[in-house]
Amino acid sequence: MSSLHPLLLRQLRRTFGTANAIPPGLEALLTKVSDTYLQFDQDRRLTEHVLNVSSRELTAANATLLEQNHRNEALLSRLSQTLSILHPEQPTAPGQDILDLAGDIERLVAGRQATEDALRMAKKAADSANLAKSEFLANMSHEIRTPFNAVVGMTNLLNDTDLAPVQREYTEIIRQNVEALLDIINDILDFSKIEAGHFDLESIPCNFSEVVEQVLDLFSDRAVKSGLDLGVAFSADVPACIVTDPTRLRQILVNLVGNGLKFTRVGGVSILVEATRMEKGLRIDFSIADTGIGIPADRQDRLFKAFSQVDTSTTRKYGGTGLGLAITNRLVEMLGGAISVTSREGAGATFKFHIMTQACEFADIPLFAPDAELARRRILVVDDNPISLRILESQLIGWGIKADFVASPDDACKAYADNPPYDLLILDHNLQGMNGSQLARSLQKAQPNKFPPVIFMGARGQQTEELGTLIARKLTKPVKPTELRTALVSVLKPKSVPAAKPPASPQSTGADSDFALKYPLRILIAEDVAANRKVIELYLDRLGYHPHEVANGRQALAAVAQNHYDVVLMDLQMPELDGTCATRMIRSQPGGLLHPYIIALTANVLSENRAAATAVGMQDYLTKPLRPETLANALRIAHAWLVDNPRPETPPEDSAGL
Ligand code: ADP
Repeated sequence: MSSLHPLLLRQLRRTFGTANAIPPGLEALLTKVSDTYLQFDQDRRLTEHVLNVSSRELTAANATLLEQNHRNEALLSRLSQTLSILHPEQPTAPGQDILDLAGDIERLVAGRQATEDALRMAKKAADSANLAKSEFLANMSHEIRTPFNAVVGMTNLLNDTDLAPVQREYTEIIRQNVEALLDIINDILDFSKIEAGHFDLESIPCNFSEVVEQVLDLFSDRAVKSGLDLGVAFSADVPACIVTDPTRLRQILVNLVGNGLKFTRVGGVSILVEATRMEKGLRIDFSIADTGIGIPADRQDRLFKAFSQVDTSTTRKYGGTGLGLAITNRLVEMLGGAISVTSREGAGATFKFHIMTQACEFADIPLFAPDAELARRRILVVDDNPISLRILESQLIGWGIKADFVASPDDACKAYADNPPYDLLILDHNLQGMNGSQLARSLQKAQPNKFPPVIFMGARGQQTEELGTLIARKLTKPVKPTELRTALVSVLKPKSVPAAKPPASPQSTGADSDFALKYPLRILIAEDVAANRKVIELYLDRLGYHPHEVANGRQALAAVAQNHYDVVLMDLQMPELDGTCATRMIRSQPGGLLHPYIIALTANVLSENRAAATAVGMQDYLTKPLRPETLANALRIAHAWLVDNPRPETPPEDSAGL
């Protein structure tokens, strides 16, 4: 009974009195009626709710439609205003025929198409402008380099005259600044060439140790002047010959070592080189570590981006373009490798990079073959410079040599007394407290009879005569691994090698008046810029030559027809007839196919120009600013070539003499 609807229950109680008086059949019927009623009530409420929700949604949808309508109207009005601006002669009433509007829109779409076409054309133009850019840069570089040639040349010549100290100081400042400017021009040119995709890589067999050690030559004077140490060590598996682009590899090393020295005040820079044979060639790893100012962690990610420098303040202490590492990064990538840096501010920086190469097929031999006899010898190395000592340690241990390494004269005396006998001493000359000569003497006093030979390491030109017979060999710091190895072999295995010639000083300018006697050549200079002619003439004069001179290609052609020159130094860009055309014409004349030997002179450093010069028959190619040693070297090569390829006919009497 309790399940009946409360209203119905109340009505029944009113009719029958109490709940118990209600007849059972009626109760069942009423329960059924009540259930139906409850169900109906529930359905009604549900329907009401659904209607409520729908009406709310309807109102919201209406509002959205209204809003959309407003927006459409605003849009239409803006469109019509725009059209009236575009076509002022047309009526702008809001009721404008929708078909006209559609026509206008179509025209707008067509206009956009035209804009896109114009953009495409503009991009095409930009692409060809980009191509023209590298040409322009080459020209710019030529224009800048031409006067530079005169400045560098005259400064070199001035430096060789009798100058008062203050004058020498001034000319040295000029020389340094010209070199710095040249570096900047080279950086910008390189970067633009890389950007324009005009950077051609060579892949040629090269003497690997020479490529790396030339970098030491380049920086040795600077390192000595700044009191910094510099050195390189090769691991045992480095090959003697690799196939790569030696110029670009040198450029990478020059950038990194140059930066290392630039940002270091105390200590120095070390280069470690390792090789790993891989399935697809030879991987060479380089690590260039310095003890300089370091690079803050939050600046390291931007180092390899163009024009970025850690210190961008106006009070910057260090010069530079911020391009060096960007170029280095691209060059490393082009040589198949990658570069990274680890550094802490104030604690130096280590740049690591690798390149992928091949060992030379015809000479796949290690740079330093294992040598059991050397490995048996005992050596004491004394150097108070930690970088030098570490480098020597890596190198000697790499060769399997048992050596003791000490950093002071006291430790040297102790090691010498405690661990006799040594087969060899390698002594640094500039030791703290006692120089290398004094140390050698005091060690000798301790054991006069069995005193081992000494390899002595000193700065270029350092006097060591006082040591007399004690010195077995003298090495110039930074010590090159190849020179160290030759010295070890010649001292410890004297019968196995003939006495090695001292290496030619890279700083030698070739200013040797006997040069022309050793390499007799009749020389013609064809160069339009008078100052440059003068520079070349003076360089040649110092070598003992008396060249003839002409100022353009046409005159060169005439001079070659009248006289037999062995060598023509031919500027490429000259008025009237340029060097390329003049050479082509000389080569097309009877007997002119190979003679004279023509050396291109140019301020243009793009490789296409070298290829063009070779294509017309020039035998060599020198870039300005011309350095005396480069010119002397080229003449040496020319002379050797002429000895192998003599001119068939005899020169006439009136030939240009020496
Ligand atoms: P820059 O011509 O300015 O030296 P780089 O691209 O070679 O251009 O180097 C960019 C910047 O990276 C430098 O200006 C310097 O702030 C930082 N840097 C590069 N090498 C070193 C290093 N060995 N030690 C400290 N900072 C370095």
